[in-house]
Amino acid sequence: MIAGAAGRKRMLLYRFLSEFPWYVASGEGATITDVDGRSFIDLMGSYGPNLLGHGHPRVERAAMRQRLRGDSMGAQAPVAVELAEFLCARFEPVDWVFVGKNGSDATSYALRVARLATGRSRVLIAEASYHTAQDWGTIFEGGVPAPHRSLTSRFVYNDAESLRAAVDAADGDLAAIMLTPFHQGYFGTPALPTESFLKAIRQARQSGAVVVLDDVRAGMRMHPSGGSHAEIGLDPDLVCFGKALANGRALSVCGGSAELREAADQVGYLGTFFASTVAQAACLGTFAAFDSEGSFERMMAVGGRLATGLVEAAATADLTVEVKGFPTMALIDIEGDGPGRFLSHVWSAAMVRRGVLVHPTQPSYLCAALTDEQVDTVLERAAECFDEVAEEIAHPTRRRSIPEPARGT
Ligand code: PMP
Repeated sequence: MIAGAAGRKRMLLYRFLSEFPWYVASGEGATITDVDGRSFIDLMGSYGPNLLGHGHPRVERAAMRQRLRGDSMGAQAPVAVELAEFLCARFEPVDWVFVGKNGSDATSYALRVARLATGRSRVLIAEASYHTAQDWGTIFEGGVPAPHRSLTSRFVYNDAESLRAAVDAADGDLAAIMLTPFHQGYFGTPALPTESFLKAIRQARQSGAVVVLDDVRAGMRMHPSGGSHAEIGLDPDLVCFGKALANGRALSVCGGSAELREAADQVGYLGTFFASTVAQAACLGTFAAFDSEGSFERMMAVGGRLATGLVEAAATADLTVEVKGFPTMALIDIEGDGPGRFLSHVWSAAMVRRGVLVHPTQPSYLCAALTDEQVDTVLERAAECFDEVAEEIAHPTRRRSIPEPARGT
């Protein structure tokens, strides 16, 4: 038994990440330390939330000030109003907000609003995309009854034809099309939306469906405003944020256009901790630091250095790599990698062994606290790890020696 490992048996990649720190003792800036005292340069950003650095002083001060006043007090506090006004002023399509805790709260609420507003049932999402832990939008099918999935259909991201076909197949019962601004299918390659695909999304709106941008994962890392729709040039009806919004505290938001306000008002969607104030104050603190410290520009600069440096480091081992995705959320693709080869797993395991937290199939989520020295260290170690990959290519049997996870199942 291992804490927090629900569904772990399905995730084959763990076989290759026995080096991964399963229990983390502390985090500071862009460094985390595990319970065995091993320190890691954190390039994973907690899969999104670590935006400015663990324990960022400005965010922590904002949270602490609010904590002294009270957190869960059974009603909204003034900070909720301050946050709502801030978000409505900041994001173009946002005229009202719902505030929850997890990304799943925001996306599931968005779907309810879309269904209520349209009086329709079906939702379209991209193949291999994950939008919620709930039945309608999870990639994990275990325990989900077939009827609960039957109102969800999938299209191929960046395939305008498949989107159009899915809209037609919904036969007038389409409530919502939900998409991410940066597609990272489960075990897939990161992709940004193409112009023709975005055009097809705009056209699909004519079916009467509500367009929902799920910015839970990419939010704060694609555009200096924090909203990725500004980067990709899409005007969604509803937008969902989570993960990075409060720099590690549990807070998510669904915001929408004025036309959907009435429907939003009618959706009953409650959570014991939705009104808790500390995360709301942390969110305001996160935006304040993000803007005043040039965090977006810093992450873009670090991402640019890493992208160039990793390609160069790979070349020293006679390897060709491509850095795919967005500078702040990129994943390397090693030429010659593919089914059965696991080269990215070999590289990631080697990096983790050397104290750099990366993942073989998930993009790195950079944080603004990464120092130039840390980036230098990452690149030095990357070169050594590419040597291990070259060795793996030369002697492929070696991967059999990658140990099984030592910890329980
Ligand atoms: N949307 C996207 C794009 C996500 O990546 C995730 C989580 N990985 C979610 C929604 C759900 O967020 P949460 O895990 O906070 O419920």
